[in-house]
Amino acid sequence: MTRLFDLTGKVALVTGGSRGIGRAIAIALKEHGAQVAINYASNKSAASETVSALGGSEHALAIAGDISDPAAAAGLVEQTIAGFGKIDILVNNAGVTRDDLILRMSEEEWDTVIDTNLKGTFSVTKAAIRPMVRQRFGRIISVSSVAGMVGNAGQSNYSAAKAGMIGFTKAIAKEVASRNITANVIAPGIIDTEMTAGLTEAQRGEIMKMVAVGRTGTPADIAPAAVFLASDEAAYVTGHVLTVDGGLVMY
Ligand code: NAP
Repeated sequence: MTRLFDLTGKVALVTGGSRGIGRAIAIALKEHGAQVAINYASNKSAASETVSALGGSEHALAIAGDISDPAAAAGLVEQTIAGFGKIDILVNNAGVTRDDLILRMSEEEWDTVIDTNLKGTFSVTKAAIRPMVRQRFGRIISVSSVAGMVGNAGQSNYSAAKAGMIGFTKAIAKEVASRNITANVIAPGIIDTEMTAGLTEAQRGEIMKMVAVGRTGTPADIAPAAVFLASDEAAYVTGHVLTVDGGLVMY
């Protein structure tokens, strides 16, 4: 990737950084000079591959931990600071889906998605904010979804969690702006990762009718947005929702 901004000397934590969009963001942050810790839930081999792509264990850290567990979530920040001395950039990227129509949706499907995507974002952010306030610098970037802006049938749990991430981000953006900390959202459209690999051709066709640029996105389409929002140059951008969706959602 052409180097867009300079993140030399910055330390980043990317939750769910072992695969998909999180991996692309982690690699892009590293390519722009940051030291990067990635988190994952259970897929150790994907995490190891990503650490190799980040230059090996001398340069990168892989931290296992379920962000829906508040203690584990706080531990990610502690381990990032233990490994690299500080945390400047937090990318709340880890997320899951448990799709079902509301009539069939179980409480467990609801709770899993809310606890991971929304409460996990709260728990990791809460742990990261204190050191960011102390050092008077921080960049918080949360990966929501266009589903959180316009809703998606079969995803009431996911849409609610992703909308919640947007409200959460705007609230904390106001709380910590005076400390030189920004908080922004990236809202991807349909991106080719394991998360979307299970869509049927019919489902994909329906979505594609709404994508103006006429193709699905890739993790590499998302990563530059994260690099920009992490940069010093984005100091005056906060509380913003940046759709990176090929024109799927337009206001
Ligand atoms: P993915 O390929 O399924 O990767 C998910 C990542 O999150 C993995 O690293 C996974 O770790 C980690 N993860 C899952 N649950 C976790 C937990 N409880 N604690 C810690 N880590 C956990 O997903 P993706 O498509 O890259 O999506 C990344 C983010 O973008 C998600 O928030 C998703 O909602 C959002 N998004 C995706 C799309 C899309 O079309 N793909 C569109 C809009 C928004 P393991 O490898 O250990 O499982």
